[in-house]
Amino acid sequence: MFDVVIIGSGPAGLTAAIYGRRAGLSVLVLEKAPMSGGQLINTYEVDNYPGLQGMSGFDMGMKFREHAESMEAEFAEGEVLEIRLHGETKEVVTKNHVYEARAIIIAAGATHSRLDVPGEEELRGRGVSYCATCDGAFFRDKITAVAGGGDVAVEDAIFLSRFCKKVYLIHRRDQLRAAEMLQQKLFALSNVEILWDSTVEKISGLEQVEHISIRNKQTGEESELKVDGVFIAVGIRPQSESYTSLVEMDKMGYLVAGEDCRTNVEGIFAAGDIRTKDLRQVVTAVADGANAVNSVQKYFLSK
Ligand code: NAP
Repeated sequence: MFDVVIIGSGPAGLTAAIYGRRAGLSVLVLEKAPMSGGQLINTYEVDNYPGLQGMSGFDMGMKFREHAESMEAEFAEGEVLEIRLHGETKEVVTKNHVYEARAIIIAAGATHSRLDVPGEEELRGRGVSYCATCDGAFFRDKITAVAGGGDVAVEDAIFLSRFCKKVYLIHRRDQLRAAEMLQQKLFALSNVEILWDSTVEKISGLEQVEHISIRNKQTGEESELKVDGVFIAVGIRPQSESYTSLVEMDKMGYLVAGEDCRTNVEGIFAAGDIRTKDLRQVVTAVADGANAVNSVQKYFLSK
């Protein structure tokens, strides 16, 4: 029996592990894959984490993990199938194990959304990608398109511009959602062309991506672009499927919890991108990790 089982090893989960160990709690971090960092590890460069400006997301994820390991948090691999409640004891069920805990912090994060257009699924891994830092290098001197207008889309376009011959950024509105500083960097790049008010309607190609069909929302005009790759960066969705019947969620599937990370179920806490909140950043995720453990301690004291 652990004091706390933490589901997820992104910034929120790893911070919770550090704070949990500092509080003298026994801590198990459950991770889906043997690679910590969540979405962070796919980020080329993190520009807004105080004191670590410009560090790669991968290096930051590894640093967080080393810190948690140095505090002797335990780690195990496994995808959570369900959580069972037995009064004050909770069970976290994975395919091969059942872990018992007095409290659970769900920090399972979020994953990329899909465009849901023809060709997206069929050509996934054959030119369709959701991770520019993972796959961008395959497109050296090629033509790529990025769909989206948020921080991730703009970061991806900037990253791809370093080695692609040409990058199209396709955004459905006439204004980007991304941070101003990122926009300025993007606008300065000569090999990036922004297609405003446009949506990707279809991705086509025989073996690999060859074309995308674009529709201009203002004029209704349809056109085809010849591209070798499409990077889809149209937002994120919470990885909360395993908890649907357990805790209250909002209509997007985020676990409803305030800054204290308490859900509507006693002893179950939500931290990081999976929680309802306004701003999803590394700094807000690590803050959640600390707050969640603070709430766990209060919960234990109340028992
Ligand atoms: P996001 O901020 O939600 O942006 C998603 C973008 O995709 C928006 O521009 C949106 O358009 C567009 N979009 C959504 N659905 C679409 C569809 N079906 N078709 C076409 N376009 C669509 O998501 P994100 O960029 O993945 O970022 C996720 C979170 O991580 C955000 O909170 C972001 O701030 C944070 N983040 C921060 C940093 C950083 O601080 N360095 C880096 C990466 C991510 P509209 O603008 O029209 O809604």
